[in-house]
Amino acid sequence: MSYIKAALFLGILLVGGYFGWRYYESLSRNVSPSLEILGIEPGSGISKDTEITIKGSDGSKIESLQVSLDGEPLMKPVSLGKRAFTEPLTLVVKELGEGAHTLVAEMVSSNQEQPKTILELSFHVDTLPLQATLTKNEFDGRVYQGHTLHVEFQTNKEIREAQIKTLSASYPCYLQSNRGLIYECFVPLECEELPQEYPYTIEITDWAGNSMLLEGKFTIVAFPFKKQTIRVDKQKIQEENSLGRPEKELEDAIVELTKKSPQHKLWHGHFIVPLELKDTTQITSDFGVIRATQERGLCQHKALDLIATPKSVVWAPQEGIVVIRDRYAHSGNTIAIDHGYGLMSLFFHLDEFADIKVGDRIKKGKPVGTVGKTGYATGYHLHWEMRVNTVPVEPLEWTKPTF
Ligand SMILES: [Zn+2]
Repeated sequence: MSYIKAALFLGILLVGGYFGWRYYESLSRNVSPSLEILGIEPGSGISKDTEITIKGSDGSKIESLQVSLDGEPLMKPVSLGKRAFTEPLTLVVKELGEGAHTLVAEMVSSNQEQPKTILELSFHVDTLPLQATLTKNEFDGRVYQGHTLHVEFQTNKEIREAQIKTLSASYPCYLQSNRGLIYECFVPLECEELPQEYPYTIEITDWAGNSMLLEGKFTIVAFPFKKQTIRVDKQKIQEENSLGRPEKELEDAIVELTKKSPQHKLWHGHFIVPLELKDTTQITSDFGVIRATQERGLCQHKALDLIATPKSVVWAPQEGIVVIRDRYAHSGNTIAIDHGYGLMSLFFHLDEFADIKVGDRIKKGKPVGTVGKTGYATGYHLHWEMRVNTVPVEPLEWTKPTF
């Protein structure tokens, strides 16, 4: 082989090798960085010292890893200078302390597209044995048909979850306020529920996964629902039917919206009456009145009807999210406010809507509309309804500070 041929061959080899290396580099650089924390599940609880592993890899060189806990560095930053690492770490419960914690791992690499990768993981330390007791037993556990059973219990620490089971249904319990460790739950009692004694159980689970049961009982008392006959002009019914959506659509919407209700409390303290209520003569229909109408025969009116000066303002009884603002044949101009946890307020027959739209967050005491007579109404009045998990309940009870 001549000298020239050898040089040419070497040249091709060098150029080829160089481009091959560049190609390999570009390929590995395209491998996106990955970071994971092994040995602990996000949102879980630990009750003893726990070994975890922080694992990272990147197509480009990883320069450093930094781990912090609740905003404070947990260990010295580790300089790496390699494409993958496994870093063991022990979470010592005594050092961490009881309660919620957040672990943040931050990896810095020479990856140009994503030089920084951050992973956040929340968990609970829970080493205390679970203690809980029922704290509220007003009215001797006696509740009227159509009212709401309100149960409270206290714990010795923050819990993961609790559910009350009764009347073949279950409802979540939640922290009443951040001030103490008092939890509460609300059980709607249908107007038709048989008056007798019923048991309930509350299953409480702490962050370490331990459970306990609280047991109690309550008595449903028969409510003397009144009877009433009303008559709405035929022509008005026809008119309303052409103006509004069918009644079934409202009922379906309530069921669907309740499923999507925020799983946190948007209301604070007791509710207010949405109108200025000077005396009880303004209540033209008590909750649960059994009505005879020409349209539907006998049916129970599971709301309050309040009369007020026509077009006077209707106020939001509590904070929540506007979820319905529409016209229905039966309920006329209708507003529904979701207060979280499946608790909903409804206002029917409004003359006009306030300047609010679906999705708006509304504060307690802000206007929702004005008193009207749209829909199936004999005159100007407000139909005020309250639903707990779609079940209509007596709204006035929720306005009592002691409830
Ligand atoms: Zn009504």
